[in-house]
Amino acid sequence: MTFKGWQKTSLIEYPGKVATVLFAGGCSLRCPFCYNAALVLAPEAIPDLAEEVVLSYLAENRRLYQAVVVSGGEPTLAPGLPGFLERVGSLGLLRGLATNGSRPDVLRAVLERALVEYVAMDVKAPLNWEAYRAAAGLEEGARQVLDRVEESVALLLRTTARVEFRCTAVPGLHSAQDLLALARQLAGARRLALQSFRPGPTLAPALSSAGTYPEEILRAVAEQARGWIPCVEVRA
Ligand code: SF4
Repeated sequence: MTFKGWQKTSLIEYPGKVATVLFAGGCSLRCPFCYNAALVLAPEAIPDLAEEVVLSYLAENRRLYQAVVVSGGEPTLAPGLPGFLERVGSLGLLRGLATNGSRPDVLRAVLERALVEYVAMDVKAPLNWEAYRAAAGLEEGARQVLDRVEESVALLLRTTARVEFRCTAVPGLHSAQDLLALARQLAGARRLALQSFRPGPTLAPALSSAGTYPEEILRAVAEQARGWIPCVEVRA
């Protein structure tokens, strides 16, 4: 597997652990609020980082880390993902996967083989076509993507691996009702993070100046959502 970016140390990507974070290129979605346009639209323009380089660094610096998180882009698009996770596991490190849930077949295989201890799934909007189409930047003919996302949610609601669902709330794209509807659909999950959109360069330039999402709305949604999900965190 090759990567397009590497954050050597993160204290937030794997809860409670010191992690190194790797970014795979390419993505199956086109979220208008995406901050990673280069990684999504033109990964071939970014130099490759080979997994051997990462693994030999980790072997040499094993004592500095507790976990490795593979993020993107969308890492489940890479055929080498299971093999890489297996090699990370043989170093005795925990493994985390950040995914948009568009490849439930890969997610299922990785979970069944116990190749990850932690999954963070970005859910873009309530699980209905109009909302998902807008938030994930999908074409009209791509309804099967939502089916796959729903399949991934169902898998993650059943797994014994540690799971966090995440939703980035964007002004003009998500109402409080949308966020509540999503939280209801995720009932049974152990953890949901409501993240406020931050203005900056985005895939759809019109959203670059959308402003942050009102924190008080996120807090009110979180309060209600705790009726269905025990741990709902606001990241403003
Ligand atoms: S925000 Fe959307 S387009 Fe960007 S990497 Fe994540 S899933 Fe892909």
